[in-house]
Amino acid sequence: MPRIAVIDYELCHPDKCGNFLCARLCPVNRKDEDCIVKKDRIEGSAKRLRPFIIEETCIGCGVCVNKCPFGAISIVNTPEQLQEQPIHRFGENEFVMFRLPVPAKGVVGLLGSNGTGKSTVMRILSGQTKPNMGMYGTDATKDISKFYRGSELQEYFRELEKQSKKTVYKPQQVSMIPKVTSGKVSDLLGEAMIRELELRNCADRDIAALSGGELQRLAIGVALSREADIYYIDEPSSYLDVRQRINVAKTIRRHAQDKYFMVVEHDLATLDFLADKIHVFYGVPGTYGIVSKPYAVRNGINAFLDGYLPDDNVRIRESTVFEEVERTTKSGSVLASFGEMSHKAGDFELSVQKGEIYRNEVLGVLGANALGKTTFAKILAEGHASLSKKIAISYKPQYIETDYEGPVRNVLQGVSDSDDFPILARQLDAGRLMDKSAKNLSGGELQRVAILLCLAKKADVYLLDEPSAHLDVDQRLAVAKAIRGRTAMVIDHDLLFLSYISDRTMLFMGEPGKYGEAEAMGLREGFNKFLKDAGVTFRRDEESRRPRANKPESVKDREQKESGEYFYS
Ligand code: SF4
Ligand code: SF4
Repeated sequence: MPRIAVIDYELCHPDKCGNFLCARLCPVNRKDEDCIVKKDRIEGSAKRLRPFIIEETCIGCGVCVNKCPFGAISIVNTPEQLQEQPIHRFGENEFVMFRLPVPAKGVVGLLGSNGTGKSTVMRILSGQTKPNMGMYGTDATKDISKFYRGSELQEYFRELEKQSKKTVYKPQQVSMIPKVTSGKVSDLLGEAMIRELELRNCADRDIAALSGGELQRLAIGVALSREADIYYIDEPSSYLDVRQRINVAKTIRRHAQDKYFMVVEHDLATLDFLADKIHVFYGVPGTYGIVSKPYAVRNGINAFLDGYLPDDNVRIRESTVFEEVERTTKSGSVLASFGEMSHKAGDFELSVQKGEIYRNEVLGVLGANALGKTTFAKILAEGHASLSKKIAISYKPQYIETDYEGPVRNVLQGVSDSDDFPILARQLDAGRLMDKSAKNLSGGELQRVAILLCLAKKADVYLLDEPSAHLDVDQRLAVAKAIRGRTAMVIDHDLLFLSYISDRTMLFMGEPGKYGEAEAMGLREGFNKFLKDAGVTFRRDEESRRPRANKPESVKDREQKESGEYFYS
């Protein structure tokens, strides 16, 4: 396969580009040879005339890519190491997947950008998608077994085909569960699992009334309760707070002692804590994905952050550098101060110590779910009486949903002429989303649009509730860069992201659902107190300088707990 041509048909409007502009300009077509041809394509229940690119005759000139007014075409000259047969292709001019990760005893983590095929390989390995070796419309399970002759995957596919290998798959989208299942949590989970995943307080609640974090733990519990040879768990940390992430990671590790697990995870601190080894996914999101060789978890995450995979001899991204010094603590001038606050909502009580908001400082907000973080954000956004002056707040809520079918550019109409908009749209890679229907955006795409909408508004303070949800590592880092330097408060549960972005912290402690107490403090002090409460220690990785969770009861874990240094920096 010399090159891969992918067309995003949602963006392709032949009637709006001047009647198949790409086909008219393609130099191969102009020599009266076939390269971009017009054919019917089945889209839902309709047949539509669309362009198709014949990869064998395409010379990779890039004319169509540059001239398509909607950015619908990607042409990639495949690297030398990819002159091999793909594992799966969704259809003509659609995403191509190369190679597969190898299931192994313990936890194998999958790390990489959204759109590079992690969920696809999980579906192939769990038997839900029949691999086609690039010959779409066919079942090539037998060929794949031959392709992997002599390797563990040959035996794996043989057993999968004979149905003698049992697999369990926990999907990414847990918000769909109430649409397909009904009943109470205790109808689906046994007492031991309810205890392990700390679901006691909602055990008798209807599934339709569960929060995102409760649905996530229910889905994990249902998967772990089933007897299987291998468990595929897609993004277990979404909607969970840090303590719940660590608890879920510990639970999965306990179950993985003599079983095979494969887990997709974007939260590097959780992945580090959870996995024994990892495969890194790289390529061009939405166009093609490649699976790396397996790496020990520490080496794999460090290689990913460094951007170079030594065993694969390939550069996959720019290097990410973690700073060692604590950033500005109260070095900016005060923008506004707030007095002590108390707030009661039903049985829940929140009290906040007085504090200041400093100009150009990012305040990272740490704490378990249901301690009043979002309530505090809303109180500020609505303008609390104790604020020293009125401040304009731009707020991105935690949960984002839309039924709007119109294009994203309409959603952004009110902010698209702001000075910051072009830079932000580039930083958040939102350009290609402008002509997509808002309703059809993925969780990660919708998140980036919501962040763009929030940051492009003129405001004194930017308040973002869980901006990392549904984003991959690179998108999280891009969001961090877009926020840094602004006056902002960021509520999040990804510790690496928060430590990367924050100048100071605001710590929320208390009893979830009953009371919350909040206080602003220095970055290290806040992380230290928070991690002590969660019973987890972090050290700095010697090579990448990133904060890294210590394995429970390891020498380092015990030493740091004894010295009270839970967040070592
Ligand atoms: Fe027109 Fe672009 Fe579609 Fe080609 S891919 S037909 S240029 S909209
Ligand atoms: Fe034609 Fe290929 Fe050039 Fe596109 S990249 S214009 S399909 S030759």
